[in-house]
Amino acid sequence: MRDRVSSVDVAPGRILSAWKKSSDNGLPIQAVRAQGFPGDESLWSASQEAPPRRACLAFFMPRPSLLSLWPSHPRFFSLVTFRAMSTRQQPPWRQPASHADAQLPPLKVWNSLTKSKTPFIPIDPAGKKVTWYACGPTVYDDAHLGHARNYVSTDIIRRIMRDYFKFDVNFVMNITDVDDKIILRARQQHVFNEFVAASPVITLEVLDTAKSAFAAYLKKNLPLLDPEILPSKYQDEVEKKYATVLNGGTLPGNEKAGDDEAKVKMHIKTAASAAKVMAEVETRATSSDPTVFAESFYSNAQDLLLPYLDKLKGSSIDADDHGIFTKLTRKYEERFTNDMRDLNVLDPDELTRVTEYGDAIAGFVERIVQNKFGYVTADGSVYFDINAFEAAGHPYARLEPWSRSDNKLVAEGEGALTNETTEKRGASDFALWKASKPGEPSWASSWGKGRPGWHIECSAMASARLGQQMDIHSGGIDLAFPHHDNELAQSEAYWDDKHDHQHEQWVNYFLHMGHLSIQGSKMSKSLKNFTTIRESLDRKDWTPRSLRIVFLLGGWKDGVEITDELVSTGNSWEDKVNNFFLKMKDPAAFQGSSSGTDSTFGADVDAAKAAVDGFLCDSFNTVGAMQAISELITKYNSADKSTLNPKDVEAAARWITSIVNIFGLNGAAAADSTEIGWSGIDVPEEAKPFLYPLSAIRDSLRQTARAKTGISLKEVEAALSRGESPTDVPESAKPYAHLLSTFRAKVISLESSDSIEKEVLTLCDRVRDVDLFDMGIYLEDRDNLPALVRPVTREMIQAREEKAARAHQKQLEKQKQEQEALKRLEKGKLSHLEMFRTNEYSAWDDEGIPTRDAAGEEITKSRVKKLRKDWERQKKAHEAWQASQSAK
Ligand SMILES: [Zn+2]
Repeated sequence: MRDRVSSVDVAPGRILSAWKKSSDNGLPIQAVRAQGFPGDESLWSASQEAPPRRACLAFFMPRPSLLSLWPSHPRFFSLVTFRAMSTRQQPPWRQPASHADAQLPPLKVWNSLTKSKTPFIPIDPAGKKVTWYACGPTVYDDAHLGHARNYVSTDIIRRIMRDYFKFDVNFVMNITDVDDKIILRARQQHVFNEFVAASPVITLEVLDTAKSAFAAYLKKNLPLLDPEILPSKYQDEVEKKYATVLNGGTLPGNEKAGDDEAKVKMHIKTAASAAKVMAEVETRATSSDPTVFAESFYSNAQDLLLPYLDKLKGSSIDADDHGIFTKLTRKYEERFTNDMRDLNVLDPDELTRVTEYGDAIAGFVERIVQNKFGYVTADGSVYFDINAFEAAGHPYARLEPWSRSDNKLVAEGEGALTNETTEKRGASDFALWKASKPGEPSWASSWGKGRPGWHIECSAMASARLGQQMDIHSGGIDLAFPHHDNELAQSEAYWDDKHDHQHEQWVNYFLHMGHLSIQGSKMSKSLKNFTTIRESLDRKDWTPRSLRIVFLLGGWKDGVEITDELVSTGNSWEDKVNNFFLKMKDPAAFQGSSSGTDSTFGADVDAAKAAVDGFLCDSFNTVGAMQAISELITKYNSADKSTLNPKDVEAAARWITSIVNIFGLNGAAAADSTEIGWSGIDVPEEAKPFLYPLSAIRDSLRQTARAKTGISLKEVEAALSRGESPTDVPESAKPYAHLLSTFRAKVISLESSDSIEKEVLTLCDRVRDVDLFDMGIYLEDRDNLPALVRPVTREMIQAREEKAARAHQKQLEKQKQEQEALKRLEKGKLSHLEMFRTNEYSAWDDEGIPTRDAAGEEITKSRVKKLRKDWERQKKAHEAWQASQSAK
């Protein structure tokens, strides 16, 4: 039993050596040697059982009363073991009281507070209203696909709650527009812009500054290099010193190459582009216009200059001018909002900005201090007192008790501008309020000028909007610890003014969205390996629909890795649904016999509905739901259409439409929309008056030309008369009108001949496969039915490209074969009679076969035999050549 205990956290004074890290089989093993433990000091070694995510620790904080018992009570050991076992887990979660009158769906959600699926019961006695707070973006840069994963998955769950389960959801999201990253980024940009404005061309002085920035960057990020190295020597040196990492190896101490190595590679690249432009200045190798060169110099050296100049001048800026910061945050908030709308993510019902809650946050902190769960340090900062909080019986780190002493995570949570203070009472105590240093924006508080810590904003704003308790809180999985655990602690500390533990479950359901990784690496800003949402939509890597489909095909709480396989699964799901909807757009789809003899399809539809209901009740299992939809379509596709009851077909079409609408795959279409299908399956409206006549003419021509009796010119004329099109052509329809008239002209110019059928069909194929296809429209020919006029899909484009590539390959092979044949033929140009008439011999017989060599010696019989063989071969080749010549 003992070795199942991961680890134990004891009062700092009793730790002899802390968290000794070794790594046998890839998992971190951590141990603590603590004073006063019975027997062996290193008794509390860690197990190799990995808790979720971080393969780390479980914790146990002995109560002061137990510590006094510590020394050597014989029964103490088993007591501690037991406590360590039980407290490694999350503290108990209380299921909200059920409401007798409320009709609730049997919905269960995966709750991070229990790491299990728990029945969903809203606080609202009517079981209708659901309150939800979601952590929003920190607006200092463009959102990337990792963010898209988080917000789109959240949006999917929100839509299912609202449109499928019919809850009345109040969704509140914040915008973090004050934070260490924002301050740094805005200030760095401000100082850098001033520097560039003052030095529009690259002087030796600028070069000196850049060199110092280069040295500082190397010292901080690439410590194996001599920071004073000349930029011109950088490339050779870095390739030597970092050869292992550059060749895919690991940094010392790492078992497997991962994010650390990726970061080093990123630094190597950043320094390389700066070194290159600096070397150019040094060797005066720049030939371009000085201002053009300056632009390239600054853009290549920017990542080095930004932190360096900020260190030099950052603290001297006028930080009361909040415009320096809001210029950045306004811009990125607007861009974020647009990105989300492009991804069809619903706007929040309420949006809260930290800058608008400065006073409320200060008041929130004040009450935590009053409740004796926070303390003020000499510089005017305020910290949360974890020890006091726990001593009052509140569990700290409800979500991830095993992460609570992860110093790296704790430090990241505190931000890059945190004051080093020795006044913190506990190592993991975190800032509620930060005293502002010069160069940092500030708000007035009773402790002096300062600004909110990161975690407090969400506690304060969510409490301000939603009160003492909420149903759902959500965010990305990397926010679970410390951000969300600290939010929970702060809010409990705030609401527990009477110390009666009445309000300790601030959040009932905590939902965390899994990561997005690409080729095994987490997408992150610090690794610079991200693609922004904007870029990927602009480049058409993704459409809002295709991206959402990929997220629907992966569980919301699990990590999603974008692989070629996942992309192709997503594409085929989309194409399948697309094709189904296209068929449903066609009135012929519902023209079965009115009663229908096949009753299985109706049952299939009901079964699919029940399956999807079960999946969605099972913690929003969209993976299963997507599969169920796909299976129903397969059943439709393989059914004998003539036996189907049109009512069943229509029910399937309407139901699938409503589910894709609920999932947010169809723009703003409502769940109960009467329109069947989704956007993108119809051709442009302005094209229809020309496309439909064109298709009708073509149908008629094809049908007649393929008939046994063939087609006459008269029939061609009759076919042409079928398509009436408007004479008044709007600008946007001109390409379609032009295509129609060109097609007509080509058909009219056909003359009567034996091959007229073939010519008609060639024209019909060409307009379908080339002219219309290039305009994004496809005519799908069908037996005994008019062609289906539809947009070209990605699948079709791919198929056409593959076909063209195959044809090209075939063509190349044919050419090669022809050339080889020609080469062979050319060999036969020389007559067999002449082939041996060279200096090598001096006499020949009638057929030109040598009898004596150059010296007059008679040629041996065996040699003659060999020569004759060659002669026979050449004779054949020559005759072939002669034949090819006469054929010309
Ligand atoms: Zn938050």
